[in-house]
Amino acid sequence: MENKNSEPIIVLGGGIVAGLTSKMLANKGFEVVRVINKKIKPLNKIFAIAPSSMTWFKNIGLSEFLIKPSYPIKKIDIYYRSEQEILRFNSNDSYKNALAFMVKEKDLSEAIDLSLNESAIKILYKNEIMMENHEDHIKITNNEDDIYSKICLWCDSANFDDICQHKIKKNRKDFFQQAITFNFIKDENEANHAKQYFFGDSILALLPISKNEISVVWSCDDMLADKLRAFDDESFTIEFKSRINIDMQSILSIGKRSYFPIKQVLSESLFDKRILLLGDAAHTIHPMAGQGLNLGIRDIRSLEKMIKTTKYVDIGIKGFLRKYERSRRLDIQQFSKLTTSLQWLFSSPNNVIQEITLEGLRLVDKNHSIKNFFIKKATT
Ligand SMILES: Cc1cc2nc3c(=O)[nH]c(=O)nc-3n(C[C@H](O)[C@H](O)[C@H](O)COP(=O)(O)OP(=O)(O)OC[C@H]3O[C@@H](n4cnc5c(N)ncnc54)[C@H](O)[C@@H]3O)c2cc1C
Repeated sequence: MENKNSEPIIVLGGGIVAGLTSKMLANKGFEVVRVINKKIKPLNKIFAIAPSSMTWFKNIGLSEFLIKPSYPIKKIDIYYRSEQEILRFNSNDSYKNALAFMVKEKDLSEAIDLSLNESAIKILYKNEIMMENHEDHIKITNNEDDIYSKICLWCDSANFDDICQHKIKKNRKDFFQQAITFNFIKDENEANHAKQYFFGDSILALLPISKNEISVVWSCDDMLADKLRAFDDESFTIEFKSRINIDMQSILSIGKRSYFPIKQVLSESLFDKRILLLGDAAHTIHPMAGQGLNLGIRDIRSLEKMIKTTKYVDIGIKGFLRKYERSRRLDIQQFSKLTTSLQWLFSSPNNVIQEITLEGLRLVDKNHSIKNFFIKKATT
């Protein structure tokens, strides 16, 4: 129990980051008021979760429900244009058990809900309350008593401007791409081996989630995505199979497709007037590196560490929030820059840039320290 304040903390959002934030705060002895949307979002994503995030899940009490069904990725092969595999990341090279663990959004969400049932968290619905944020407090008015708090942790990427007074500027970048996700069943064991293909018009990731099932994230430019959307299952399957390096006969069935628009939204500042942004609400990045949720988890871990190590009684005060913002700035910048640069590099139609990219990838493959640097970044 490290709570130094008697007022509750408001956590806004019904997503994974809001759930994990509530759990972390409840563990620390804080009273939590969670404000959620009544509208339910479909939970059909599959995440590659960094090993350090899995360890943290265990530490906050999620392990029983989650660790068992998660599936380790031990190798990732990178393919560029029509080349054979040119770059391999292997967990053994860095003395790690896995590069990532595959976890279904639905399983993770259920594990969080189950663990939260044990904590006394008050739930309010966003459309039934009024929220005011001021320099020195937050006030929620609902049908019952008014609630006062020192801070609102905003973990809802969809809506921000509707109920808050703030000067936080968001920079948006549209990639003019959509991610198509689906699973397929194969008749061979993929042995924890992921593959990622970089084409001119798309990036296609094959991520095994069990011995025979593979999850696909295919980030396509709008033209290709619109073409694929119009395809029936058979035409889609033919196009998909033509892109990957897998024996056609071994694919037994392809599941339902989901579509996600791809954008990058970065907040210039992470806080204003006692509102602190966490997770995708603070930084939505391209899914190519499978790092969006991992970044959000690192936000929560950083906040947890600061609550533990600083003497602030009021964690909504500017000094605390500024310190938090400084602790997160570099990580967020590095991953947003990495994904936008890779996206630009891999989709360039320029022959010279393509040659340089190919040479660069070959060099990285031969250089153990660079590879280890990337593995360390992605696994912590
Ligand atoms: C195709 C794809 C694959 C990805 N794969 C990975 C991966 O492998 N690893 C990884 O770390 N990250 C991955 N990400 C990123 C990851 O999905 C996000 O970073 C993560 O879901 C953010 O969680 P959050 O709780 O911050 O925000 P959100 O998921 O946005 O949730 C916040 C809450 O806001 C509200 N909300 C948000 N959108 C809506 C809506 N449309 N309608 C109604 N309410 C809404 C809901 O209350 C929601 O629960 C992927 C993203 C995409 C698009």
